[in-house]
Amino acid sequence: ILCASQDFDFFYFVLQWPGSYCDTSKSCCFPSTGKPEADFGIHGLWPNYNDGTYPSNCDSSAPYDQSKVSDLISKMQQEWPTLACPSGTGSTFWSHEWDKHGTCSESILDQHSYFATALKLKDQLNILQLLSKAGISPDGNNYSLSSIKSAIQEGIGHAPWIECNKDTSGNSQLYQIYICVDTSGSNLIECPTFPHGKCDSNIGFPTF
Ligand code: 5GP
Ligand code: 5GP
Repeated sequence: ILCASQDFDFFYFVLQWPGSYCDTSKSCCFPSTGKPEADFGIHGLWPNYNDGTYPSNCDSSAPYDQSKVSDLISKMQQEWPTLACPSGTGSTFWSHEWDKHGTCSESILDQHSYFATALKLKDQLNILQLLSKAGISPDGNNYSLSSIKSAIQEGIGHAPWIECNKDTSGNSQLYQIYICVDTSGSNLIECPTFPHGKCDSNIGFPTF
């Protein structure tokens, strides 16, 4: 029926570098299933409005139900690992992301499609490989923010947003990458708006 309401304008697909999540004064805990591989992990797929605001916790009647994604769990453990303490399997993280963000795009992606779409995006993007082809790798060195942005822009055809956090010495480092996706969850787009926050012009890319 042609009456689906426009719940949101686009998605941010957000990836986190585990080395930077862990390399802070707060530290991290590996999942109970083991240390994740040294790759970007999914943080979330977040419905957003063009003005930079976003809906959250849109449907308390549709809480996270792991039985709906049982076929995806092993991939989620690999590609969407939790690094928060105390150690967990990931279900707390996935449940938070679904309840807070996923329920706001429910008219387009049901629970299974929401997680499957995020996993598919991560596989398609292969950010670590495209950075490495540009000579940028998680070796503990500093890289210019502009070189990181250009490498991703050239690799995926659209400008990303980079979020930094601070290591234990207060140095700015590559923490999260934001990529914009249309409301179907399948096409990358230019970001209608960018988040706020600042990186230094040279940022660390710690090992993991
Ligand atoms: P932080 O305080 O780390 O910027 O954000 C905390 C949480 O707020 C994020 O993990 C996410 O759930 C939510 N959030 C922050 N910025 C945005 C945004 O631009 N869009 C959406 N949809 N959620 C956001
Ligand atoms: P957001 O920041 O999307 O609102 O949600 C992040 C929430 O998920 C926080 O409550 C955080 O403690 C929890 N969380 C669990 N594992 C992770 C993780 O690996 N990375 C991040 N950023 N948050 C995690």
